Amino acid sequence: MCRNGDIMIVRKPHYYDEFRCTASKCSDNCCRGGWLIELDKKTEDYYRSLGGSIGRRITDSLITDEDGDTCFRLADGQCPHLDAEGLCSICVSLGEEHMGVVCREFPRYSLTYVQNGTEVTEHGVGLACEAAEALILFDEGKLCITDTGTEETEEAGEQNNCEEADTCEKIGDSEETDAGMLLAARADIINILEDRTRPVKSRISDVLEYAVSLQEKINEEPEEYELETSGDAADNCILLFDIYDGLEQLNSSWEEWSSLVRQTIFEEDGFMKLTDELCSIIPDYELLMENLMKYFIFRYYMKAVWDCNQLDKVKFAAACCLIIRQMLAALAGKQNGGVTREDIIKLVRVFSRQVEYSEDNVEAVCEEFLFGDELSAGNLRNMF
Ligand code: SF4
Repeated sequence: MCRNGDIMIVRKPHYYDEFRCTASKCSDNCCRGGWLIELDKKTEDYYRSLGGSIGRRITDSLITDEDGDTCFRLADGQCPHLDAEGLCSICVSLGEEHMGVVCREFPRYSLTYVQNGTEVTEHGVGLACEAAEALILFDEGKLCITDTGTEETEEAGEQNNCEEADTCEKIGDSEETDAGMLLAARADIINILEDRTRPVKSRISDVLEYAVSLQEKINEEPEEYELETSGDAADNCILLFDIYDGLEQLNSSWEEWSSLVRQTIFEEDGFMKLTDELCSIIPDYELLMENLMKYFIFRYYMKAVWDCNQLDKVKFAAACCLIIRQMLAALAGKQNGGVTREDIIKLVRVFSRQVEYSEDNVEAVCEEFLFGDELSAGNLRNMF
């Protein structure tokens, strides 16, 4: 990894720098997300060194969760430091620089890997925040990813709340080859997704096929069952929901959504009827699906530098789009068709908070793709 003074590349999508937290104007403040908010050691030490009433107020609110991490104890499902105006009282009294890393960074995420001997950190903003969703979901432009060279300093290194990629020995002869090959493939996939001369379902289908073919080259053996189809699309969709339902519950409204979707799928012709009608019911459905796929691909595809399995990242992206699509279908059924952009933003946020903010949840879904033939790329393609 980089030493002090080395050059590193910061890579980000065009919308990243446009993100602004709307704080007290936010309708679904992340501090009310119902999740335990983790505190990093450096900030915890600072709070414990403070003393006085503010130091006591903060340290009295700290607990240790089941993984041994220090977190803020929730009060009525929200962070105890959220004030009546919807602002963080720690930020107001001590300044943003004294907020914990998780609080300061949300909804930003980052991923670090090595490309041609240079450390690259990719940054993005996630769909668990309405301000970020507004930037991502209905953006009509193409995804523009920019690189900036920065000098690594000790401080920047310390502040990086990122994941570091291991060498993937199976692909090529060095990790540089791996990252370069995966980056070229990610660009190809995004190009396929942005070909608006064709329906989005055909584009997603082509992306799945592309990923199967690339995985065959990487593994140097055929992915025998991946493009085959089996079973009924509605049954396979229920199976997909079973997997997401089995994840750690991070969002209290997930259960309600899941049961609404199941009712819709089991109604007579519910799955195919609503699926076919969605293009006309949902505002900018094609654009929405394209942007969702691009978001999941940008965020997760490069994680293949760890395990050489880019196919499961593409299948994960397609599965997430399918789950969101079924949530939209269920909502359209419940509201007799009237689905607004605000409804979409709310619903995507429920999904993101349930699935994306636990590394274990994301990994658990990807593992199912490795071992479950029912969720072959062919079956996922068949569900669109
Ligand atoms: S959810 Fe987003 S906009 Fe709302 S308070 Fe959190 S970071 Fe700010």
